[in-house]
Amino acid sequence: MLVKQILAAKPGGNEVLTIAPGATVAEAAALLAARRIGSLVVSEDGTTPLGILSERDIVREVGRQGSVCLERTVAEIMTRNVSTTRPDEDADSVLRKMTEGRFRHLPVMEEGRMIGLISIGDVVKARIDELAMEKQALEGMIMGH
Ligand code: AMP
Repeated sequence: MLVKQILAAKPGGNEVLTIAPGATVAEAAALLAARRIGSLVVSEDGTTPLGILSERDIVREVGRQGSVCLERTVAEIMTRNVSTTRPDEDADSVLRKMTEGRFRHLPVMEEGRMIGLISIGDVVKARIDELAMEKQALEGMIMGH
């Protein structure tokens, strides 16, 4: 299973929620809560990732600094070195990248532009659906229908 198949199976697969680096951490937290997601790609133009901000970053800074961090900018607390994936990367390789890097989100890049984002939940769901289909096909072969 490839990243492009995981994206295709995802409702709104090509939509990536981004936030400007100059937005406040409070604005980012409000957006994460409203959209019920765990991370935002930080970008000025919507297609070039400058960083990534996840709920983990906000929790870490609230723990360190207290609520004053909510008035800081996203750029101050985001992760700058963003790992990405490509449409033709295999799901197992993506899971390995996420496990080794200890993160749960990967922007999908094609020709220098971000075309989607996959979370560990999207990959696991796609693998479970694939296994269920394989099981059904095998049962069909064994039962002869
Ligand atoms: P997550 O598990 O995705 O909520 O993120 C855990 C930590 O990894 C946070 O500090 C994020 O900013 C960072 N992070 C999330 N996704 C990525 C990524 N694709 N590349 C680099 N760092 C990331």
